Amino acid sequence: MNRARFAPETPVLPEQERAGVLLPLPLAGAYDYKLPRGVNAPRGTVVAAPLGNRETLGVVWGPAEGTVGDNRLKIAEPLEGLPRLPASLCDFVDWVSAYTLNPPGAILAMALRSRGAFEPETRRIAYVRGDETPPRMSEARKRVLAVAEDGLARSVPGLAEDANVSSAVVRGLIQAGALKPTELPEFAPFRAPEADFTAAHLNPDQAEAAGVLREAVRAHAFSAHLLDGVTGSGKTEVYFEAIAEALRQDRQVLILLPEIALTIQFLERFAARFGVRPAEWHSDLSQKERRRTYRAVMHGEARVVVGARSSLFLPFPSLGLVIVDEEHEQAFKQQDGAIYHARDMAVVRARTENCPVILASATPSLESFVNAIGGRYSHLKLVNRHGVAELPDVRIVDLRREKDADENAKWLSPSLRDAMTQALAAGEQAMLFLNRRGYAPLTLCEACGHKLTCPNCSAWLVEHRYRKRLACHQCGYEIPAPTACPECKAEGTLIACGPGVERVAEEFAHFFPNARYAIASSDTLHGPAETQAAIRAFAKREIDVLIGTQIIAKGHHFPQLTLVGIIDADLGGADGDLRARERTFQLLHQVSGRAGRAEKPGLVLLQTRNPTDAVMQALAKSDRDGFYEQERMYRERAAAPPFGRLAAIVVSGYDGEQVREIARQLGKAAPPAKDIKVWGPTPAFYSLLRGQTRERLLVQAAKGVDMQAYLRAWLAQVKIPAAVRAAVDVDPISFF
Ligand code: ADP
Ligand code: ZN
Repeated sequence: MNRARFAPETPVLPEQERAGVLLPLPLAGAYDYKLPRGVNAPRGTVVAAPLGNRETLGVVWGPAEGTVGDNRLKIAEPLEGLPRLPASLCDFVDWVSAYTLNPPGAILAMALRSRGAFEPETRRIAYVRGDETPPRMSEARKRVLAVAEDGLARSVPGLAEDANVSSAVVRGLIQAGALKPTELPEFAPFRAPEADFTAAHLNPDQAEAAGVLREAVRAHAFSAHLLDGVTGSGKTEVYFEAIAEALRQDRQVLILLPEIALTIQFLERFAARFGVRPAEWHSDLSQKERRRTYRAVMHGEARVVVGARSSLFLPFPSLGLVIVDEEHEQAFKQQDGAIYHARDMAVVRARTENCPVILASATPSLESFVNAIGGRYSHLKLVNRHGVAELPDVRIVDLRREKDADENAKWLSPSLRDAMTQALAAGEQAMLFLNRRGYAPLTLCEACGHKLTCPNCSAWLVEHRYRKRLACHQCGYEIPAPTACPECKAEGTLIACGPGVERVAEEFAHFFPNARYAIASSDTLHGPAETQAAIRAFAKREIDVLIGTQIIAKGHHFPQLTLVGIIDADLGGADGDLRARERTFQLLHQVSGRAGRAEKPGLVLLQTRNPTDAVMQALAKSDRDGFYEQERMYRERAAAPPFGRLAAIVVSGYDGEQVREIARQLGKAAPPAKDIKVWGPTPAFYSLLRGQTRERLLVQAAKGVDMQAYLRAWLAQVKIPAAVRAAVDVDPISFF
């Protein structure tokens, strides 16, 4: 054994370089480590760091604090052969941490989300034609050598399959030297999209917007743009031009989409424009795909990434453009773990990268709208649909007035049934929209009034009649649909109250027995695959009517769709929070926008009991900007966001008494401050969720207030026990 090198006569080590290393764990800050001698490890260097009796990834974050004695420091080893995390990403992690009040390590964890990406690269062994001619030549062997003639390297099973022989034949040829091994990189490289794979022919409005965006990309500086165009106006076409410019500039592009499960159409459209699909990043990727994509992003090889929220934290070395499509979508708000809004953080990421960000929507968030009219964002408007398509005619159906002669009709009004009859007779397609999954949102006992609720959540159980089950949409708890009331034990007294999409479909089938229809909904029965299938069948005109939840409202393009029926336009308004009107408007506008996207004009019927409501009126008059202006005034008067600031603290835990006690203590500890009001604690909307009791506190502050400083000072006063969580939600968008 070669012990000499480590002999005790080795001179005392000169002082080793130390560094503060951030670990991807919810710790207060970076930990001090020693670096191996002579190693230069700037900020962003990924290291393997011992922690207790295990080893974790970490990132050199800054100079050591120097609070720990040198002899107690452990050594962090930089990982070989990997680029550093870009300094801009480290800055971004710090920024998000400070803004959301999450420990920096908890944010770093999101940037290191592919553990596998940091394992050493492996190589694949493959085979090419060797120099030897095998002594015996069978038909099978000839076939293999003929396949290998093209010089491509293949695995043993690959060769066997291509030549249609057993792998024993291939191995015989390897032994004879007729095939020789060669090493391949672990993954096939990502092909680069081509900026000019196909040329775009933009209409004048589109060309003008694209010109601004191309210029912004060339400027290599931060700028924010609201691409505000009606549905079907060609926003995607326009931002594709900005992507093309970024590709010409050799920069990377990140596109954030809200519903990653629904992006097949997007990927294909991208491929048609740029020759290849973009790289993808979302929670459905396998470990291997994650590793491949993460590394390709890190090396700058993946040029365009389309992803969900988490793709914001990928280590792009040369990001030149960020796009947030459907920027108003609530799905961009991450609600568990570190709570953050991916749209807002996308703007921040663009700023740290010195590149432009494009927010695209037909119904922008009020925040972005205010930024655009206030001049902080450039406001690029597309007011017309591309080509001959016109915006649909939106009509209100007053459910208080439409008395129905047919007592089987509960959810489809006579006007809607008439319009449906006409559309189907004309060979056109229709959509029925109700933002409620399942058959009925509430099951009630007629005898004793008992409501069936979830044992883990303060929520009703939703009936799913096809599956004959009742399910909690909050936690997934399920039971077979009972035949007797669990409370009073009476038989046959349970009644379904209110409609879900399944129930609308049942009524539709009753009135239109010959029409072909499908349900598209985001629940477990109608899972992503089934929903995709329903949407594809609709696109191929294999079905006439699509009945669904908000999943059918999103960016799809169905040229033959002329009628959209909105079953209950009042549903969203019931939430009663600050954004309820805005959300209802956005959703209904989005659904309406599916109608009449090609030559045939579209008709939208809005069934409502509040026909004079501002949302209904704005939709019927297609007065979007009027609605936004009114909403802006309300918010300004109430000093609500974006004219004031909000933060929520949700205290949760399994021990209800303890949760309420901590919430009370927090409430009492709120430091008095000018321009800041604290409300609560009060039970949250879901006061019980997945078995945990929840209490909420709400902080309202004037616009200029340093909310984070206030929250930090406040939270420092109360010791939160380990069994209780106090989650901070800066800029909350929902109030449950
Ligand atoms: P948006 O994203 O604004 O809803 P899209 O970009 O999806 O609109 O465009 C709507 C439809 O119009 C798509 O089918 C798209 O291919 C087509 N379209 C838009 N602009 C053009 C154009 N300049 N040339 C050809 N087709 C276009
Ligand atoms: Zn539940």
